[in-house]
Amino acid sequence: MKQYKMFINGEWISSANNQFIESLNPYNREIWATIPEAGKQDVEKAIEAANYSFHNGWKQTSGYKRARKMNKLASLIEKNADKLAEIETKDNGKVTRETYKQMFFAARAYRFFAGYADKIGGETIPLDNTEMFDYTVREPIGVAVLITSWNSPIQLLTNKLAPALAAGNSVIIKPSEHASASTLEIMKLIEQSDFPKGVVNCVTGGGEIGELLTQSSNVSKISFTGGLNAARYIGKNAAENFVPLTLELGGKSPNIIFEDADLEKAVPGAMAGIFASSGQTCIAGSRLFLHESIVDQVSKELKVKSENIVLGDPTDKKTEMGPIANETQYNSIKAMLKETEDEGAKILTGGLAERKSKGLFIHPTIIVDSNNSMKVAQNEIFGPILTIIPFKDEKEVVQLANDSIYGLASGIWTQNLARAHRVAKQIEAGTVWINTYRASAVQAPFGGMKHSGYGKERGLHALLDYTKVKNVMIDL
Ligand code: NAD
Repeated sequence: MKQYKMFINGEWISSANNQFIESLNPYNREIWATIPEAGKQDVEKAIEAANYSFHNGWKQTSGYKRARKMNKLASLIEKNADKLAEIETKDNGKVTRETYKQMFFAARAYRFFAGYADKIGGETIPLDNTEMFDYTVREPIGVAVLITSWNSPIQLLTNKLAPALAAGNSVIIKPSEHASASTLEIMKLIEQSDFPKGVVNCVTGGGEIGELLTQSSNVSKISFTGGLNAARYIGKNAAENFVPLTLELGGKSPNIIFEDADLEKAVPGAMAGIFASSGQTCIAGSRLFLHESIVDQVSKELKVKSENIVLGDPTDKKTEMGPIANETQYNSIKAMLKETEDEGAKILTGGLAERKSKGLFIHPTIIVDSNNSMKVAQNEIFGPILTIIPFKDEKEVVQLANDSIYGLASGIWTQNLARAHRVAKQIEAGTVWINTYRASAVQAPFGGMKHSGYGKERGLHALLDYTKVKNVMIDL
C-alpha cells in the first residue's frame, strides 16, 4: 500500500500526530493508499514556512523567473499525465479518459498564467494637480490558503495555484480528505520545478485542518472550493481577520431547451451536462427545462441514451461512467433518490445499480413529474440525477431558472439569436452557455453568483484576485 507524506517547507513529512487517513478506490472498494492526517503543529509549520518564503525571496523574484518554474511544472504535468490520471481515477473513480484530458488542461493553465507573470504592471493616474505624479503597483497578496474538493483535485487546484504563483504569492494547499493523492503527486513535480522551499506547501487532513488554516491571522488570502456548510465557517473566519476570499461553491444549474433548438446537438448536450463525471460536477446541468411541445420526444431520447451509457471500471477505455467517488457521496445520493419518490416525482429510468461489482455505482437517472419547487430541483445532489421540468414560454422559464439559491452555470439551446441573448441577459448565473454545455477555456473567467460563491477562477480576473493595488503619489 502506498504511504503518502505531506509537503511542508520543501520537506516530506508524516503527521505530527502519527495519524493517517485511508484512501478508498470507489471501484473495487480497496484501500490503496494512506495520507497523513495533519496535526496543529503541521499547520503552524506550513503557515510559518509560507510566510518566511514569501518575505525572504519569493516576493522579490521576477515574474520572468516565476514563469520559468511554472512552465517547467506544466511540462512535467504533461510528461506524467498517464500516472497522474491513473492516481486520480483510483482516488475518485472518474474515468481515466477524462482525468487524462484534465492533465493537459492543467498544463495549459500553468502556461497561460505563466504568460501573465512578467506582465503584471500598474497604471499612471492623471491628477487635477499637475505638480503631482501618481501611479499604482500591483503586488502579490502574501500567503494564500487553497482548499479544494475531491471531484477534480488537480483541475480545482490548478484554478487556484496557477494564478496565485503567477502573481507571486506563497501558498498552503489543503486537498479533500477523500482524494488527496493526486495533489501530493503534483507536489513531487513542484519539487522538481525548483520553486524555493516554503513557496508551495501541502497539508492533508479533514475539515478541521482547513478550519485551522482559515482561522489563522497569518494568512492573507483564502480560496475555497466546496459546499455551503464549510463556506459559512470559512466566511466567518475570513471576516474575523479581514482576509479576501474566493468561494467556488455548488450549483443547481438550469439547462433550457427551447422548441426551436437543434435537438441533435441539444440532447447530447443535456446528457453531457449532467452525466459527465457521474454528475459530480459543480456545473452539472441538473435541472433540464424542456418546452412543453418537445417534452415527450426529448424525454424518450434521453431515456434511451442514458440506458446505453456504459458503467464500469473507470480505467477501461470503453467505460463511459465510473462509480460515485466515495461512500459519503453515495449515501447522500441514495437518500435524495428516496426523498424524490416520497415527494411524488417519478424515476423515468435509473436509480441504484444492481451490485454487479463492489463499486459505488448509481445508474444515470432521469426524474419526471417534478416541478421546480421540489427538493430534487432545489437541492444540489452532486450525482447523475437529471430532473426534467416542462415550461410554456420564455418568461416562465427565466423565472423558473432563476428560482434557485444557486447561480453557477446555465445552458440555453435555441436557433433564435435574439432570444439567446435576451435570455442570457436575464439568467442569474456566472456562466451562460448557448448551444453548448460544459465548454471551458483557461482564458474565460469562471465563478458563481448568489449561493454559488464569488470571485473568479481562470482568465485575467483570477490573476487579479491574487494581487493587491498600491497607490503611490509624489509631489514633484
Ligand atoms: P466540502 O465543503 O465538504 O469540502 C471541501 C473542502 O473543504 C475539503 O478539503 C474539506 O476538507 C474542507 N473543509 C470542510 N469543512 C471545512 C471547514 N469548516 N473549514 C475549512 N475547510 C473545510 O465539499 P466537498 O464534498 O468536498 O465538495 C462538494 C461541493 O463542492 C459541492 O457543493 C460542489 O458543487 C462544490 N464544488 C464547487 C466547484 C466550483 O468550482 N464552484 C467545483 C467542485 C466542487
